[in-house]
Amino acid sequence: MTSESLDIHASEGQLCAEFGELLGLDEPVSKDVLSAALSSESYARSLLSSRRTPQMLRMLLASPPQRAIRKNEFGTMELLQRGSRALLAWSKTGFSTTDPVERQHRTEACLACPDRRASGSHPLQATRSELGVCGLCGCPLSRKVSMKSETCPGRSADDPDRSRWGQAITTAARQA
Ligand code: SF4
Repeated sequence: MTSESLDIHASEGQLCAEFGELLGLDEPVSKDVLSAALSSESYARSLLSSRRTPQMLRMLLASPPQRAIRKNEFGTMELLQRGSRALLAWSKTGFSTTDPVERQHRTEACLACPDRRASGSHPLQATRSELGVCGLCGCPLSRKVSMKSETCPGRSADDPDRSRWGQAITTAARQA
């Protein structure tokens, strides 16, 4: 397996090893670091942008934000796997964020969506945003609407070939 792929069926230990590899480490990251990176966009961004500054990276690895570390196991593996894939896809865009118009468009679609849920009790779904989480993928929506690489898993009621964000639904997305 290469550093560019995070196997969606991997165990938590494998995900820690692959995230360590993605950061250029020769050992896995701790479970706390992986959980914190998947819970905190700013922590994940700091880790990935510190890959070539070992001292900074060591400091970040030694002090994952405590509030972002998970405290229960319900749904953990699925959230970790989805979060890992989202993080990797986002890193490949150079951490591109949506422009204000696109973000507003996504936000309005989510606010009107019947699959939107209140913020989850799982720490990996922690969000202070009133947007809550997507009931179809479990991701915090404040992050999802901001990350350019994200897609909406819901199908538009008006056009079955498009998501509720208006994105064309690809064959790969249909099979996901
Ligand atoms: S299905 Fe799409 S529109 Fe609905 S909450 Fe999820 S991301 Fe938002």
